[in-house]
Amino acid sequence: MSAAVELLIRNATVVTMNAAREVLLDADVLLDGDRIASVGPHSKARRARATRVIDGRGLVVLPGLIHSHLHACQTLCRNHADGLELLDWLRERIWPFEASHDAASMRASADLTFLELISSGATACLDMGSVHHYDSVFESARDAGLRLVGGKCMMDAGQGVPAGLRESTEASLQASRALIERWHGAENGRLRYAFAPRFVLSCSEGLMRKVAALAKELDVRIHTHASENSTECDLVREKTGLDNVAYFASLELLGPRTTLAHCVWLTAEEQRLLRETRTCVCHCPSANFKLASGVAKIPELVKQGVTVGLGADGAPCNNTLDIFHELRQAALIHLPRVGPTGFSAMQALELATVNGAKALGLHDVGSIEVGKKADLTVVDLSAPHLTPVSNDPVATVVYAAQSRDVRHVIVDGHLVLRDRQPLTMDAAQVRREAHRHAARLLSQLD
Ligand SMILES: [Zn+2]
Repeated sequence: MSAAVELLIRNATVVTMNAAREVLLDADVLLDGDRIASVGPHSKARRARATRVIDGRGLVVLPGLIHSHLHACQTLCRNHADGLELLDWLRERIWPFEASHDAASMRASADLTFLELISSGATACLDMGSVHHYDSVFESARDAGLRLVGGKCMMDAGQGVPAGLRESTEASLQASRALIERWHGAENGRLRYAFAPRFVLSCSEGLMRKVAALAKELDVRIHTHASENSTECDLVREKTGLDNVAYFASLELLGPRTTLAHCVWLTAEEQRLLRETRTCVCHCPSANFKLASGVAKIPELVKQGVTVGLGADGAPCNNTLDIFHELRQAALIHLPRVGPTGFSAMQALELATVNGAKALGLHDVGSIEVGKKADLTVVDLSAPHLTPVSNDPVATVVYAAQSRDVRHVIVDGHLVLRDRQPLTMDAAQVRREAHRHAARLLSQLD
């Protein structure tokens, strides 16, 4: 990767997502190394400092877009697990698929994932791996230049778990700790660890309790699934005697350091628990539709003050990892219930920026402000489907923009996509390797 330099984007529309949610017209953003050095009206002095200049006319600069729930390990199973509900989808397709990975296929899956993310305008993600080979995912993010908070999946219990994924409680904790030692805070803080117990049905109570204690002790994030599917919720009640989120509360697993994917089926009491413990939620609208899980009550959660991020979940349940697709879905699907002004384009964008940052446990990304990390997604508004441009660039981006409108992507001060071309990865090579490894993995499924 090239060394970070003083880079200036000039004369652009800048959607800052600062506390006042300011949108600046004809403004400059100056980057100094990995940080944002200035934002605002252009000045000759600042321009003189920049060693590299991007003409921002016709472009909208957004904070780097953030996926708060993803499975890079599943991407090679895209288009091969359709027409199933969650538990059948896991037992019949996803778990056997994940169990057949080796380190090289995991690397190919992560490379394909991060190429797709960068090309579609995402700069960061919260990722849950499979049980093994998570070093390959970190290595891929290290080389791709993406910001990754991730961890190996933890599975020490459950029905239908293949032998290749079943691990002992102790082995699961040890492997997680070893990954923390190797990767947490690496690459200038761009790579961070998150404990990833899969969900209640594949984790013993002992494992969940130890994760809660260790996360607190090591100040590491917890990333798990909760209340995605109604059958899952019934089985959790059968297993624990409690509703899913209430069970997590009983294990002291909730808190601002925890992100729960989905939360489609919540009782009023569980909503209260999320609010009071400041637990983060990740909304995955496409995955919830495709697995026929239901519609999470996101506007209601947001109204109560719960922090909600946005994610694509795994490629086999979406089937795309396009954050613009999720933005549009999140902005539209709740409106029949809450009315046309019940959830705004700005609120949808908050999921993938300021709130996404919180869901990843990151305090220095998610908005364009002086001193924050230089993670930016730059969108070109010149395509026919964006014409004529309105005076509300946020609405234009959320309702009408597509990932193909992404022109440049910057992570930690480094350009990783320039003029739609990935700079850190050889796209043809990534696709070739993806095909090669997918052929082996999928042949073992059929
Ligand atoms: Zn998931």
